[in-house]
Amino acid sequence: MSLIEPHGGKLVDREARGAERESLLRAAAAMPELTLNAREESDLELIAQGALSPLEGFMGEGDYLLVRDQKRLANGLAWTIPVTLSTTEHERAKLKIGDDVALRSRDGRLLAALHLAEIFKYDKQLEAERVYQTIEDKHPGVKALYAQGEYLLGGQVTVVDLPRRHEFAPHRRSPRELRTLFAERGWRSVVAFQTRNPVHRAHEYIQKCALETVDGLLLHPIVGETKSDDIPAPVRLRAYEVIIEHYYPQSRTQLAVLPAAMRYAGPREAIFHAIIRQNYGCSHFIVGRDHAGVGNYYGTYDAQLIFGYFDPGELKITPMFFDNTFYCRRCDGMASLKTCPHDQSQHVSLSGTRVREMLSQGEIPPVEFTRPEVAQVLIDGLRHMTAAA
Ligand SMILES: [Zn+2]
Repeated sequence: MSLIEPHGGKLVDREARGAERESLLRAAAAMPELTLNAREESDLELIAQGALSPLEGFMGEGDYLLVRDQKRLANGLAWTIPVTLSTTEHERAKLKIGDDVALRSRDGRLLAALHLAEIFKYDKQLEAERVYQTIEDKHPGVKALYAQGEYLLGGQVTVVDLPRRHEFAPHRRSPRELRTLFAERGWRSVVAFQTRNPVHRAHEYIQKCALETVDGLLLHPIVGETKSDDIPAPVRLRAYEVIIEHYYPQSRTQLAVLPAAMRYAGPREAIFHAIIRQNYGCSHFIVGRDHAGVGNYYGTYDAQLIFGYFDPGELKITPMFFDNTFYCRRCDGMASLKTCPHDQSQHVSLSGTRVREMLSQGEIPPVEFTRPEVAQVLIDGLRHMTAAA
């Protein structure tokens, strides 16, 4: 038995190497140019390395409309989030179909060539309504969508340089690298845990419950663009290293960063996150309550229920659903709403706001809530942030 196959059967590779890369670098000087925003840079990196297989570039209109309206690509494969490149009316005037367009990072580096196949207008409000289930610009994903240009550019990309390669370098692993690593370790089944938050006892419990039934655990935090009030990625990463060092079996745990940008599209993003993890070689994916949600835009279990939209076999990766978990004094252990019969007064649970408050005052939350080693990293990290501000 080997690892799960990528979505669509083949791991995409859009990175140019050797002579192809050299000639593209030379040709780029004469190409029209576009500067990518943070989210587009993240998407480009994911496309380049196959994390978004079978996508080989930014979506054309056929894929875009079907994804928006029916949660599928034009070829019928499940897909829930538009992966698009927008441009303004003004910039569009410089481009024509068939062009190679130089895509640059915000700091001016040449990242890739877009082989421009389509230019099309799109309905932002309809995308907001279907993908985010709200047209309110208070929603961070909708706000970003409304800020985009009026046109979308579709076409394959060929990448000459990945964005921000140096950040978190030791933990940056492409789908190919992780697949090799899993195979070397003899893991056939791997469960991925998606997170943009530090790991507290509740998450640790869920991960370990899942690990009881598979060969390996991939702790796969997102380090692309997140909301400004999320804990900064370098601090979170240190906290993951520390909790793994003290509380996880090294031989069954792998930490890697996912350079994706959060869209906060709730249920649709849960499917997107699952497909991405399949491409990284994971057979299972943990979906908790309110996965990738924000505010009160989605129902608590919507991100789990959406998996029922697809026919069996459409998604090869197996979701593992978890309810809210906590330490219960009466059970004398970690438990969930599913497994603990006691009322809330027995549960040790703290709101995110309260935890943040305690940490910023240098206070270590109860050991039933968070590991002291993790709390210390977060306290130091927040102190450092305040000092820098
Ligand atoms: Zn209990």
